Amino acid sequence: MLENYPYPIPHGKITVRACVINATEIIEIRACDRKAPETEGLFWHQETEAGRCLADFLYADLTVMKTQLPVMQEAITTINEGKDPTENFLMLREIYRYWKAQGTIFAPYVAAIMRLFADQGSGKKLSLTDIKKLAARYEELQATMKQIAEVFAVDRAVNLAYRYLAKHEEQPDLYPLFSYGHVHLDVLFTGGNLETAYFEELGRENTYLTPRKPVVAEVLTVESPDDLMGYMVNKYLIENVHFRTCKYCGRYFGVTGNYKPDYCSRQIEGSTKTCKEAGALRLYEQRKMENPAIREYKRSYKAHNARVRYGIMTREEFNQWSEEARAKRDRCVAGELSLEDFVAWLDSDKRSN
Ligand SMILES: [Zn+2]
Repeated sequence: MLENYPYPIPHGKITVRACVINATEIIEIRACDRKAPETEGLFWHQETEAGRCLADFLYADLTVMKTQLPVMQEAITTINEGKDPTENFLMLREIYRYWKAQGTIFAPYVAAIMRLFADQGSGKKLSLTDIKKLAARYEELQATMKQIAEVFAVDRAVNLAYRYLAKHEEQPDLYPLFSYGHVHLDVLFTGGNLETAYFEELGRENTYLTPRKPVVAEVLTVESPDDLMGYMVNKYLIENVHFRTCKYCGRYFGVTGNYKPDYCSRQIEGSTKTCKEAGALRLYEQRKMENPAIREYKRSYKAHNARVRYGIMTREEFNQWSEEARAKRDRCVAGELSLEDFVAWLDSDKRSN
């Protein structure tokens, strides 16, 4: 048994749900925890701007999936032989966490790995068959979607649904019409992303970034990656979700409406910032560099600093000067002081040395 496993253990029916509400796409994995088998809980809840499910898929490295398969096979064999499974399940958890980070299209894959936990709990022999099939399917689907994604990378004036249907008429194999499984009314709690639900029975509380708000929506029960992708593509086409290229990471991201952002909201690898935040900072730095008041201030600062070095000006005088200069610089940037007056003031104590 998994006695030393420190996380909630997926149990019972593990389901994937998807919906798009107000240009936000939501993907969830629901399951019970083995210690609370009656309560359906959230193992994953992801909210992203519409377009991300497809866009992230384009950049996922599926060779990693291939190299992980033999490792998983080895883990499963060891577990089936009745050896202590905790370590192997911790490794399986690492693998599904990796795919969570690669994009929401991998929710069915994550769920398939999570089902190994549930199977172990109900005493079944574990098998990699479903996971292997899925891996092969992701590879085919990615190739298809790389082609289809280009349909979305056009000016926002273009009606995407018409554009797609026209492409379908010409090349129905490359641009298929998508259909998908069961859609039904459901209640979702929105307002931020959730990594893993910790059930009250485990003495931990769900930690959300923002308060949760219940929303009734038409929700898809995802049975396969095709299901999920087809549903998303149809939503994007109907809602006219266009792809723009992020000026920071160079990846596609979805936009709706009239707003034309330059940066996506992906988290930058190894940073707590998103492209949007880093991009805004870069723009600010650029503007500061370009501002003539700041250029003049820097020029004068250097000249005054040199005077301290040569003993013409004391450090106190310089500090006083620079404080005044910064205040005037900021007023000049804000448009309260003309550049002419600012430069005249900077040069007013010029010496012929
Ligand atoms: Zn980006």
